[in-house]
Amino acid sequence: MENKLIENNLCCPVCKGGFLTSNTVFVCNDCELTFPCVQGRPILVPFVAEKGDGSDALLAAADSLPVRKGVPSVTNYQGMDVESIFFEKLFRQFNRRDTHWAFLGRKVSEMAEKIPKNATVLDIGAGECKYASLLTHARYVSADLVSSSDKHDFSLIDIVADASAIPFRDKVFDVALNLVVMEHVPDPALTVREMSRILKPGGLAFALIPLVRPEHLVPFDFQRFTRYGIQQLFENNGFQINSIEGSNGALWTAIYYASGIAKTQPLRRYGRRSIRGILWNRFWATILWPLVVYARMSDQFYGGEFPIYFWVQAVKKVQ
Ligand SMILES: [Zn+2]
Repeated sequence: MENKLIENNLCCPVCKGGFLTSNTVFVCNDCELTFPCVQGRPILVPFVAEKGDGSDALLAAADSLPVRKGVPSVTNYQGMDVESIFFEKLFRQFNRRDTHWAFLGRKVSEMAEKIPKNATVLDIGAGECKYASLLTHARYVSADLVSSSDKHDFSLIDIVADASAIPFRDKVFDVALNLVVMEHVPDPALTVREMSRILKPGGLAFALIPLVRPEHLVPFDFQRFTRYGIQQLFENNGFQINSIEGSNGALWTAIYYASGIAKTQPLRRYGRRSIRGILWNRFWATILWPLVVYARMSDQFYGGEFPIYFWVQAVKKVQ
C-alpha cells in the first residue's frame, strides 16, 4: 500500500486491535480474524472474516471492480470555482437551477473551503468518490461496502469497509464525511459512534441526510431522518451539532417530485422509446413547467419542515 496515512492507521474492524499483514491477507494479532485483500484492496469487513451471509457476493463484487484510477485533480479544472466543478464536471445530472441542488453546490463549496490543507479526511460510504477531486488539498481516504449497487463505479475506493465497523484506529482523522449514506446503514447510532471514534477531538463531521427521497439502492434503504432525529443521533453519539440546514422549502419538494414522477411514469409504463410514453412525458413537462419555475423563485416563502435533504455540520466533543 503506497498511502502511509492508511498503512499506519488501519486496525481490525472487529476488536480494533493491530494487524499482521502480508501482501494478500491481514491477520489480526489480537482476535486472529483473517481479512482478504482483493485486487490490492483490503476487505476489512467483519462478516467477510467470519464468512457470514453475503461474504461471497462481496468478494465477487470487489473482484469485479475496475482497476483503481487516479483521482481527477482540481488542477485539471483551472479557473473554475468549486460550484462550477460540482455542476459541470462531477454531477452533470444535477440541474443547478433546482433549489436543493443549488443549495448542495453551495454547501459542498463551503465544506471544501473549511477543510484545511493536509487535513486527514475519511469519506465513509464514498461510492464513486466524487468529492475527492474537490479535496485534493487534503489527505483523502475513501471507504465503502462496494456491493450496494452494480450501477456505480467503485473503482476509486481505498478500503472496503462497513460504516458500522470502521477499520481505522481512534482519533486518526480531522474530518469525517457521511454524504447520503445514513439512510443506507442498518444501525445509524453505531455509524455515528464510529465516525466520532475515528475523529480527533474537535474534528469535523459533514453529513448529507435525506428527509424526503424515494426508496433507492433497494434493498439497502432503511430509514429517513427529521431534523430532531439527526440532532439526537449526533448528540447521543459523541458530537455537538454546529448546524442542521434544510436544502429547500416545502413547495419545491412537492413540485420537484410531482413533476419528476409525472414525467418518468409514462416512460416506465410504455417504454422509453414509445411514442405514447414520450407524448405523455412532454405533456406533463409542459403542464408542470410553470409550477417548477414558480417554485424555484418562491421557495423561501414556503416552510422549512419538508426539505429534500438536511446538511449537517457537527464537531466531535472533547471529552
Ligand atoms: Zn481483531
